[in-house]
Amino acid sequence: MLNALENFSDTLAETALKLPSSSFQAHVFKCIDALCEDFRSRLLQNFNFATNIGNSFVPDKKYFLQSMLFGEDPSDKTITQYISLLKSYKSIEKVHELQVDGYKQYDIHNFDLNIFDLSNNCPDIPMLISFSLQIFEFWDFQSSLALDYTRMRNFTKIIFKGYKDPPYHNAYHAADVLQSVHILLLSPAKSPKYLLYDTEDKFALLLSAMIHDFKHPGLNNDYLNKTSHKLALRYNNISVLENYHVSQAFKIMQNSENNIFHSLVNVNRIRKSIVEIVLATDMAFHNKHVEDVQEVVAKPSAFNMPNMLGILMHAGDISNVCRKFHISKEWGKRISAEFGIINALENPDSPSNGLPQEESQKRFCKFVMPFYKNLSCLYKTVVNWSNTLEENLSMWEGHTKMTQ
Ligand SMILES: [Zn+2]
Repeated sequence: MLNALENFSDTLAETALKLPSSSFQAHVFKCIDALCEDFRSRLLQNFNFATNIGNSFVPDKKYFLQSMLFGEDPSDKTITQYISLLKSYKSIEKVHELQVDGYKQYDIHNFDLNIFDLSNNCPDIPMLISFSLQIFEFWDFQSSLALDYTRMRNFTKIIFKGYKDPPYHNAYHAADVLQSVHILLLSPAKSPKYLLYDTEDKFALLLSAMIHDFKHPGLNNDYLNKTSHKLALRYNNISVLENYHVSQAFKIMQNSENNIFHSLVNVNRIRKSIVEIVLATDMAFHNKHVEDVQEVVAKPSAFNMPNMLGILMHAGDISNVCRKFHISKEWGKRISAEFGIINALENPDSPSNGLPQEESQKRFCKFVMPFYKNLSCLYKTVVNWSNTLEENLSMWEGHTKMTQ
């Protein structure tokens, strides 16, 4: 076992020597030392790999070590995975140096980040643009996919402007979901194969998060179908809003200046993947996602990456119930307000306020609990999410008792 470890660290050292910056090389060597130390101590603990990395982390060596070590022994696949992580790591250095397009940098790796505080403190800063540019820089798609950043900036600005202003499905929600999905992509996993996203997968998932509710009107599919809305007619009552969001986002790319697919190689594959991922955000598929995750937990060979990308997108989309209570509560208030508007449209003569916020939040937390519990068996970051979800549920149960 220790021989395997030594071979492994040699391979990493060789990779590190090829890295462009000497300060980064030094950092990687430190990581390798820590990796060996970490691995030795785990050996001493009889492979007790149960580790809780906490919600708030900087993307440091610990994350990279744990990403790999949650799995089985180092194998060719884990080495490949680790090396690809090291390669993506170089963009961290760049992020520290760059003010991306003049937009402020945020602690995008921190799930406890309070987007409402940021927006209150800096109301003029479009969070979605800042988050998008920073996250796409982090993953360094410029190097790996030859992504044209001028077009990316143009596209991002138009996406931001196209988000409307309903209480919940606005650009803040898009920024929030984008950050959640980014954090999921950084998560350690139970098995290295759950982490074998290729660059196009990552790009498709992050871009999907950014556009997934583009031009959302603040209504839901059920209402659009019942009222034979023109969008319901256009999409034959099938995932109406989701089809609309992705199709409208692609429409922007018809203008060459905004066409982020311009220099990409596998455009058809990426495009197909984005459509599938955005369509997977339809809540109608929630139970299917739960079943699919359960199946992988029971039978890891059932794992397939395209399907998992849709599941991770869904996990990010509804993850505000897994944020710290004060943040989650604000999202709950907003979704209740949006439901209230739909309710008033459906019942103009006798508008009811629907369920009180605490009751609807309690029900939603219970409804999504099995999803996050199962997903936490695959991705370690979700362990923290599902723990916070449980805490939030008990907070809402306390609220309900107080108001009874
Ligand atoms: Zn959404």
